[in-house]
Formats: sequence, structure tokens, C-alpha cells
Amino acid sequence: MNAKVLRLNKAGTPIAWLNWQETATLVAKDQVIWSLGEVVYTIYGGTSNSGARSRLDLPSIVACDGKIEEKTFVPSLTNSLLFSRDQHVCLYCGQDFPSSELSRDHVTPTSRGGKDIWTNCVTACRRCNNRKGNKTLDEANMELLAVPFVPNRYEFFYLSNHNVLADQMEFLKTRFSKNTKNNLHFQ
Ligand SMILES: [Zn+2]
Repeated sequence: MNAKVLRLNKAGTPIAWLNWQETATLVAKDQVIWSLGEVVYTIYGGTSNSGARSRLDLPSIVACDGKIEEKTFVPSLTNSLLFSRDQHVCLYCGQDFPSSELSRDHVTPTSRGGKDIWTNCVTACRRCNNRKGNKTLDEANMELLAVPFVPNRYEFFYLSNHNVLADQMEFLKTRFSKNTKNNLHFQ
């Protein structure tokens, strides 16, 4: 039971990935306003005095009441999300690598004033990272295979869960940016 349930706010904005226990609590407390997607878990509870057995169906997407955040969403930059954004491909040589062989390259090196932000960071294999070193793209005579971008909220939720269900993917991808639509190989 390791599939996650996508929690939305009442405006339909993704808020969190929940495990089945957290989802069951929301459903049992009647805090789910509406839901989408297929039932991923059915939880059976105890038998009541009347002999009826309680049963909770947990859908793959639930929307709950709560405060709506209006501010722009920028996910924190971690290697794991960065490598997922770039699909574990080195953006210099274009080859696939396991995470253990990848690194975070700063397109404009930090020693040259480059920032540690999404739009200045790309996934690079060790070899390409070493080759580029402290140089700019021009100085190193290297090119990027894709433009580094900040994942939006929908892309972040997709990238931060390795086991996104088909109906969750359908929901999330309607709001993907064209960067991701161009880059991702949808299953
Ligand atoms: Zn490389």
C-alpha cells in the first residue's frame, strides 16, 4: 500500500501527497469536499452493534477545505528533484545515468556570480561537470540540450512522487508548462 493520494485545496490546487492513513482520517472526519479518480484503497473497520461493517473507499485525488495560498510556488531545489526534472539525463552529453553518477552543474559557475537556482542549474554527469569546471558555456565550448526551468506546482507534484497513478497524472499534466510537455516522455 504505497500509492499516494493527491490532496487538493477546494480550488483544485495540489497541496500534498498523503498516505492511506492520512486520507482515511480526512474521509472519516468528513473533510473531503469532492474527489476524483478511481478508488485506490478500501479500508474496512469494525462491526457496529447492528452488524454492519464500516467501510471507507479512498479515491486517488481528494479536495479539502482550507486556506488558499495565492503566492507563487517555487519548489526548493534538491538534487533529487533536479535530476527528475532533467529525467536523469546529462544536459551536456545527453546520456542517461543513475542518480549516484549525476551532479548539479551551475551553468554560470557560482564562483562567477551564478546563483544556486532552478534556472541556473542542470543535471550533469561527472565527466561533463569536470570538463566544464569553472567555465561558462562559451568558454568551455559546451551547449545545453534543454533550457533549465523552474517546475511549477503541478510539475513539482509529479516530480516528487515516483509512483504517480494514471488518473493523478491526467489531472497534473493538464497544467504542465510547455517545457515539460516538450521534454517528458509520457508513459
Ligand atoms: Zn555528460
